[in-house]
Amino acid sequence: MSDAAMSDAPLPMTTTSLPSTPGTERHEVVVLGAGVSGIYQIKRLTDLGIDAIVLEADDDLGGTWYRNRYPGARFDSESYTYGYSFSRELLDEWHWNERFSAQPENLRYLNYVAEKFDLRRHMRFNARVEAMTWNEDERVWRLDLQNGDTCIARFVITSLGPLSMPTLPSYEGMDDFEGDAFHTYWWPKEPVPLAGRRVGVIGTGATGIQVISAIADQVGELTVFQRRPNWSTPLNNAPITEDEMAAIRRRYDEIFANCANSPGGFEHVPDRRGFWSLTAEERRAFWDELYDQPGFALLAANFMEIYFDEAANREISDYVADRIRQRVADPVVAEKLIPRDHGFGMQRLPLETNYFEAYNRDNVHLVDLSETPIERFTATGIQTTATHHDLDLVVYATGFDAITGGYDRIEIRGVDGQALADKWRDGPSTYFGVLVSGFPNMFMVAGPQSVSGSTNFPRAIETGVDWLTGLLEDAIDRGCTRVEARPDAEEEWVAKVVDAHERMLFRRSKGWFTGYNSNVNGHQEGKIRYQAYFGGAPRYTTMINHAAADGYAGIDLA
Ligand code: NAP
Repeated sequence: MSDAAMSDAPLPMTTTSLPSTPGTERHEVVVLGAGVSGIYQIKRLTDLGIDAIVLEADDDLGGTWYRNRYPGARFDSESYTYGYSFSRELLDEWHWNERFSAQPENLRYLNYVAEKFDLRRHMRFNARVEAMTWNEDERVWRLDLQNGDTCIARFVITSLGPLSMPTLPSYEGMDDFEGDAFHTYWWPKEPVPLAGRRVGVIGTGATGIQVISAIADQVGELTVFQRRPNWSTPLNNAPITEDEMAAIRRRYDEIFANCANSPGGFEHVPDRRGFWSLTAEERRAFWDELYDQPGFALLAANFMEIYFDEAANREISDYVADRIRQRVADPVVAEKLIPRDHGFGMQRLPLETNYFEAYNRDNVHLVDLSETPIERFTATGIQTTATHHDLDLVVYATGFDAITGGYDRIEIRGVDGQALADKWRDGPSTYFGVLVSGFPNMFMVAGPQSVSGSTNFPRAIETGVDWLTGLLEDAIDRGCTRVEARPDAEEEWVAKVVDAHERMLFRRSKGWFTGYNSNVNGHQEGKIRYQAYFGGAPRYTTMINHAAADGYAGIDLA
């Protein structure tokens, strides 16, 4: 894109294609990312006849479900609450094979949606945006792509994915290791030989727990390098028969209404009887029931007190610790698998299938890094302070630069050249997690400080896409060329985000909810980044809908 092109006459607000030149596409709206959010976003825009394209850095669509191909990768939301709700026809056609569907089927689903609604023709792949610069005179964004192309857009919608920036540790000698090594996010498309191999997994978050459970009986030896254990409860997956799927289809309206009315965006709803109104025995009997139920039942259908009341949280933590002790044969190993530094539900809860039983196998070994830290990698494995572990394959399940990482990797410059990375250095600051003051015409789906990070992702994604598409329509109808959050509205929203976060017991725990990632500068322990809104989906939806009904209060439409 040349400077001359930047100084072309202002773009008309039109829903027809804007003139493009070789290497420079011009569109009214550019959507960044073809994952779950980008797919729905482009559907909404093209339905409205708005000239829009999706730029996707990868070579195909699917986002999370395109990338995370590691064994065991699957939903931990009930499949039928994860799929899109916008098309009755789609709901009637698609059969989810499992209550918690696995990655290959999830990717097939997203492709099916894209084909059905002919969305691929609006997508450009291998189109990584490296820089995004606001042009105040023209009121457009200029996007510079890695391949040298440029795109000009009146509006940019970022659907970058909250968990799209994998992070690696930085142990001495990692490059010296001569076996295979990759982050779970980059698990190869080609089958990875596992039989007979000595595999090391670093990390025991939701990803590590899935991959460890899935490969324990496939590999020769499995060594798990655990820095801190996580609480984890059974997924309780099961196949879905034709009859069950028919019943689900009949119930879809009710299912989505239930999700919309629950704080977490699931069908599980908190128990309102009151933690202390039951005896300890009654609570344990209730938890026994929840433990055997699918998905997040033990977390999301539990008493609300477990999130706010330390004594209540201690009691449920003791209950889950006992469950771990019952499932792990070696009491020493069991104790190592029980978290001591945070209570149950104080970090994002991983769900598991036979995870704890994996440690009862002779070929699975737990290395507690809090006792014997990694000193360095060698050509043949990992040296801890205790011993050398010979390995053929190292799997990094070491997490993500969550929520803001996807933004940091693009050089985003708004009004007066301000860098978004600078504005967000100590943590994000947004209006409803959708707009950022100083960055006009940029709308975020599942953005920082939206409710997405704390709920069933796709449910919040649909809410967010619908809301910002309404805002966009309104702007276009009014002939507006500039849409920006007011600084005071942003400040008020950040205060609400902080307030909701500070009420929760997890406020000081280490996990991506609080922005902790030991592998990313500035994301260390004790530096809280208020990355998600924890006030619950219904409250969030009510607030954004009120703002819309109020003529998009807090937003300057020029
Ligand atoms: P994560 O929860 O951040 O876990 C990363 C793990 O790596 C932690 O155990 C961490 O230890 C460890 N680690 C990081 N750096 C390390 C280092 N330098 N040395 C040793 N260990 C290190 O990441 P994740 O497991 O990928 O999960 C991220 C999120 O993705 C989940 O919370 C969930 O929201 C999502 N997810 C969803 C699904 C699903 O829906 N089914 C599945 C997988 C993931 P510390 O705890 O000590 O930091």
